[in-house]
Amino acid sequence: MTLPLSHPALSATDPELAALVGAEEQLQADTLRLIPSENYVSQAVLEASGTVLQNKYSEGYAGRRYYEGQQNIDQVERLAADRAKALFGVDHANVQPYSGSPANLAVYLAFAEPGDTVMGMALPMGGHLTHGWGVSATGKWFRGVQYGVRHDTGLIDFDEVRDLALKERPKLIFCGGTALPRTIDFAAFAEIARESGAVLVADVAHIAGLIAGGAHPSPVPHADVISTTTHKTLRGPRGAMLMSREEHAKAIDKAVFPGLQGGPHNQTTAAIAVALHEAAQPSFRDYAHAVVANARALADALLARGFELVSGGTDNHLILMDLTPKDVPGKVAAKALDRAGIVVNYNTVPYDPRKPFDPSGVRIGTPSLTSRGLTAAHMPTVAEWIDRGVTAARTGDEDALAAIRAEVADLMAAFPAPGLPTD
Ligand SMILES: *Cc1c(COP(=O)(O)O)cnc(C)c1O
Repeated sequence: MTLPLSHPALSATDPELAALVGAEEQLQADTLRLIPSENYVSQAVLEASGTVLQNKYSEGYAGRRYYEGQQNIDQVERLAADRAKALFGVDHANVQPYSGSPANLAVYLAFAEPGDTVMGMALPMGGHLTHGWGVSATGKWFRGVQYGVRHDTGLIDFDEVRDLALKERPKLIFCGGTALPRTIDFAAFAEIARESGAVLVADVAHIAGLIAGGAHPSPVPHADVISTTTHKTLRGPRGAMLMSREEHAKAIDKAVFPGLQGGPHNQTTAAIAVALHEAAQPSFRDYAHAVVANARALADALLARGFELVSGGTDNHLILMDLTPKDVPGKVAAKALDRAGIVVNYNTVPYDPRKPFDPSGVRIGTPSLTSRGLTAAHMPTVAEWIDRGVTAARTGDEDALAAIRAEVADLMAAFPAPGLPTD
């Protein structure tokens, strides 16, 4: 199905760029997008992020700016922060971080000194770069010590985490990650942080929408600081927030501005406010639970087809497949699935014998397909496409990939994507 042309001003000024945007809209319409950190934002979120709010400089915070003319911007930022506080049940919310990585860097600035020990989950185990991994500034400027998951279960071993924390006495402990298919036990992390005298940071970037919708336990009241992006399951614009109890509010605000950033991106703040409003509606609870139900159904259907899943399944929106038994490297499978109209990312699995640029796994998730209205009843078909795609990747069968691509586009045409142009 060909989408209508949109963005008339852009097309008139810069047809070359407009054509690329149009092609991306078509791609997002036609494909089955399974990258677990991606989503489709609503038309309302898109509109808010494309407003003249972007013309303003607003260094400082509402009521305490270094620029005049903030009559409306102050209200926008207060609205976003108040909505975050109400939705997540926190005392304080800073909605200015440009994205998840700078938000996390601000946490280091607020609570640690260069050279201090910090603790997080190792990247190849499912953690994030910014949790003290070596190639990141957080691993270069701080001394990162890293925990993982157990080889036999794929689950976090809290005895290991406790032993490491008591031995290393980190200033910060990060929990949360990018490839964790299971529920995060915030209370267990909080107990360890208390015992070891660390500040506990719950980085819920991936699962913020599930938490808001009641489909994953909340880090409140366990975590000292909550860091999240706004563009993953929360279904807002690309941005981030830092939340905390009142006692840490000043330190966090000072770290974000003037510690790390200049002016906030007001158009993004506005779009965050819209996304938080949407996430407070009953329909968003349904969405969050449907994301999890779809992931469970997809995991079951993949297991029935002989796929090996890290930790044996999923509790959330995400599934990590180890393709070793299928005899296809993750990257080969991911590239073949892309040709079949199924967008995934290759990913390391815990204890991966292969290299990070050519790992054993593929990471998938259900936030985007759920935003389009696919249900658990569709998941056996999705699993079948993945199975056929992975087999075609192994045998080099391009015709099979093309056939899947047509079937995918056919189904997706019946489920219009939020935010994309329609007639
Ligand atoms: C996505 C993510 C981030 C970083 O967000 P960016 O916006 O890409 O900088 C940080 N932490 C976790 C756990 C994430 O999943």
